[in-house]
Amino acid sequence: MQLPGGLMEDGIRRRDCAFRPISGTLELALAEAGETAANTPGAVTLALAAALEHLGGEPATPQRVARLCVADRQFLMRELERCLGQTGGWFQVACSACAAHFDFHLDYAELPVQEAGTSYPIAQVEVAGQAVAFRLPNGADQEILAALPVTEARRWLLRQLAQTPATIDALDADAISAIEAGLEAVSPGVIVQVRANCPDCGTENHVDLNPYRALSRGSDELLQEVHQIAGHYHWDEAEILALPRARRQRYLRLIDRARGMAD
Ligand SMILES: [Zn+2]
Repeated sequence: MQLPGGLMEDGIRRRDCAFRPISGTLELALAEAGETAANTPGAVTLALAAALEHLGGEPATPQRVARLCVADRQFLMRELERCLGQTGGWFQVACSACAAHFDFHLDYAELPVQEAGTSYPIAQVEVAGQAVAFRLPNGADQEILAALPVTEARRWLLRQLAQTPATIDALDADAISAIEAGLEAVSPGVIVQVRANCPDCGTENHVDLNPYRALSRGSDELLQEVHQIAGHYHWDEAEILALPRARRQRYLRLIDRARGMAD
């Protein structure tokens, strides 16, 4: 798998990465990341560090995963969701104009991923007549941002991202918007919002697609499956969790079939 952006290390852009095979152990780690992390960026870091077999040929430590740009992390989380068997699905919308409820179907494979700009991960923006380099925000920035008051967040972030000294505090809102537009132009793009027309009144609605849905699966269903297999075969928890997901599903079908014959 190739990241649309990539991790910059020692001047090399590392884009190659791969997930581990999906097992119950990994699914449990993902559920626990969603349940225990202090905020969503922290959960994404834990989840990806557990799920990635390697990142640019090296171990995917939480520190390295946290340095990935936001779009790379969104891309990986959506790919992970696909590996977990969620290739899209039905989304329910309440129309913003007439309040009618409607459903639409979406296949993640149809959503394009935009490649990074050539100067990735740096954007050169003119600030008060001077060229200033800014890097793209990453997961570590997001983790700190999550704890900051909204009023301070934008300027704090731009101070972190400026690679050359710049007086961010003196900038007006237009100048800040220009920097953000410059950063967006070099960032890879993952679609996190789509448009859907209301079948009743025709109004175009904007629908948010949470790229981090793999975090909200919880562990109830998985533990129920472990419980069923343990009850039937008397294997221990660690053995059952270590099974690849597909094989666990096959055992569950065998148990169902055996039950059907007994009834
Ligand atoms: Zn409507």
